[in-house]
Amino acid sequence: MVNINLKNVYKKYDNADKYSVTDFNIDIKDKEFIVFVGPSGCGKSTTLRMIAGLEDITEGDLLIGDKKMNDVPSKDRGIAMVFQNYALYPHMTVYDNMAFALKLKKYDKKDIDQRVNNAAEILGLTDYLNRKPAALSGGQRQRVALGRAIVRDAEVFLMDEPLSNLDAKLRVQMRTEIAKLHKRLKTTTIYVTHDQTEAMTMADRIVIMKDGFVQQIGSPMDVYNKP
Ligand code: ADP
Ligand code: ADP
Repeated sequence: MVNINLKNVYKKYDNADKYSVTDFNIDIKDKEFIVFVGPSGCGKSTTLRMIAGLEDITEGDLLIGDKKMNDVPSKDRGIAMVFQNYALYPHMTVYDNMAFALKLKKYDKKDIDQRVNNAAEILGLTDYLNRKPAALSGGQRQRVALGRAIVRDAEVFLMDEPLSNLDAKLRVQMRTEIAKLHKRLKTTTIYVTHDQTEAMTMADRIVIMKDGFVQQIGSPMDVYNKP
């Protein structure tokens, strides 16, 4: 069971004169798919990065699975991340790209093999494991990036505009794939985007942000179909 709780969370960057995130409160349920949406600069990434442990929380508390995480290092938070700039290692095969982090962590070979093959099967990459990124399509590369997160077997997925580098058609396709992936893996997921349609089609609940403030939290119906 991995719920995520933000309690009165604020962020002010050291060199900034105002808060980038102000009084963010949310109780994210186990297995929920939450989308943060809002214009560029509204604080979506900052919030996600605080949850990931890539930025300090200035004030307030972050709980993951009821454990206070403010001071827990990123790698011990039980999360997997997918970013917009998913830089794959160009000299490594698809298999090695997915296996790399697990090798560093000294997982045993059999376990790595199982995880990579499982992720490849889920993502339709089984026939591409020996290819290098340059020999893949944009969509396949994005799947490898997802694969690197899946092999971690984390219960929490954090995604920051993972589709924004893809063309419109592929974006729509990958959107559906990520939604399916979520149904299958049942991770608690936070997905950041500036694209309302993406938010509407994927989210259990949407958090609308503006200028560092949470404006509204609700289901896609609640948020976009108000009379
Ligand atoms: P979004 O993800 O919604 O585009 P961000 O979280 O990236 O927004 O940014 C929120 C605000 O914080 C913006 O005003 C941005 O300029 C500022 N900001 C982001 N990163 C830093 C940083 N490293 N140092 C100072 N200010 C930052
Ligand atoms: P480790 O996670 O064992 O520290 P890695 O090389 O996998 O080693 O990652 C280095 C850092 O980057 C860690 O802080 C890790 O949490 C983070 N990181 C890299 N890729 C991912 C990913 N796909 N999901 C989650 N965290 C990642």
